Amino acid sequence: MEGRAAGEVRQARERVARRDEAVRAAAEQGLLGPDAAVVGLLDVSGIRESAAALRAAFDAAVPPGTPVLHAFAVKATPLVPVLRLLREAGLGAEVASPGELALARAAGIPAERTVLDAPAKTPAELREALALGIAVNADNPQELDRLDALVGRAAPRSPLGLRVNPQLGGGAIRATSTATATAKFGVGLRDEGARDWVVRAFLERPWLTRLHAHTGSQGIPLPLLARGAAETYALAEEINARAGRRQVDTLDIGGGLSVDFASEASAPTYAQYVRVLAEEAPGLFDGRYGLVTEFGRSLMARHGTVVARVEYAKSAGGRRIAVTHAGVQVATRTVYAPEAWPLRIAAYDAKGRPKQGPEVVQDVAGPACFSGDLLAEGRTLPELEQGDHAAALDTGAYYFAHHYAYNSLARPGIYGFAPDGSGGIAFATVREPQTVAEVVAESGGAHADALTTLRAPGSR
Ligand SMILES: *Cc1c(COP(=O)(O)O)cnc(C)c1O
Repeated sequence: MEGRAAGEVRQARERVARRDEAVRAAAEQGLLGPDAAVVGLLDVSGIRESAAALRAAFDAAVPPGTPVLHAFAVKATPLVPVLRLLREAGLGAEVASPGELALARAAGIPAERTVLDAPAKTPAELREALALGIAVNADNPQELDRLDALVGRAAPRSPLGLRVNPQLGGGAIRATSTATATAKFGVGLRDEGARDWVVRAFLERPWLTRLHAHTGSQGIPLPLLARGAAETYALAEEINARAGRRQVDTLDIGGGLSVDFASEASAPTYAQYVRVLAEEAPGLFDGRYGLVTEFGRSLMARHGTVVARVEYAKSAGGRRIAVTHAGVQVATRTVYAPEAWPLRIAAYDAKGRPKQGPEVVQDVAGPACFSGDLLAEGRTLPELEQGDHAAALDTGAYYFAHHYAYNSLARPGIYGFAPDGSGGIAFATVREPQTVAEVVAESGGAHADALTTLRAPGSR
């Protein structure tokens, strides 16, 4: 039997081979071409593989019959066909806005597999979630007051919980560190009196049955993530001891597993995370608690690739620059915070074949009109020439699905790919490329006269 590490290496190799095939097929089939200078590609087999690995890792750790819901964090890849694919793979959805909830519903994800976590839920959103029977994690005391008013006397259909912040500290990236002392999410457990307040809040509300913590995202080390879950477990034990019954019946441990953006290595895997969790808090897996997870990036990042044509290859001040059609509009975080969010770039030729030849130091620039619009700076790659393609790897989460409309650059088309059964690659449209007419429409095109016909105050 193949060992675990060998299995991961093989999977990574197969993933790269699928990606190379897809880029070549996209060029050949005209998905990339004169009218489509940038596209997003999604590896359907890879997405299925990650979803299966997540389920297998937790299923192997809990007694049979333990309820485990893997609610995909919709914000990572807010695309309806992706949510539908994940639903078919046995996952649910974690949503944080009316838009994300609507996407999950459009994908057919049932209410009982949906969790609402937004930090700024309005009364209308809370009312809708309760009417639908969607699980809600309250963020703070004021939100709990709102739930009190909505729940009334009848037992709510929705499982209701409270988000806590174990305040364990941050990881390598401040913007994705949710468990610092002053993070904006949940009730800070280490603040004076907060823990007692939380216990009392549960004792006063028999319908409050869940605890939720999401200890951070990219850059959070595995032990810190596991400690967040362990603290949540310990708090549940304390509440249940005080209540004298199993009031807290489900623990939502959030998402946050990091992706290695510097290499193809897949570590840490879900199986490794489960092992660390089981060491930190064995009771999590003894079947007394249902579990909810909310992974986003670790499920999807590897399976997306932005491919952009090199429009021009030039040099300035001795530096080679490939000017491509992928920049800040599809890789916003990388362009604005390149140290925190570096991306690997792969070079392909005009026909979409992996580019061979001598490597040179070059900048891979985007199409936007500011000099910082760089996908990669001073990167050593096979020399990109006019008509070649540059691919930004691992962009299936928080990248091309999160369009940023700088320079009114249109949203690229997104296509899923899979083997076609006869040795080739089949593509399916996940999101149509945005047309220029649509850019005009969403930029107030229907209101062209609005300002010139607006009368000055007091005029008649
Ligand atoms: C963003 C977020 C997630 C997903 O985080 P990943 O790092 O993408 O796994 C899960 N839960 C909550 C509450 C979030 O805000």
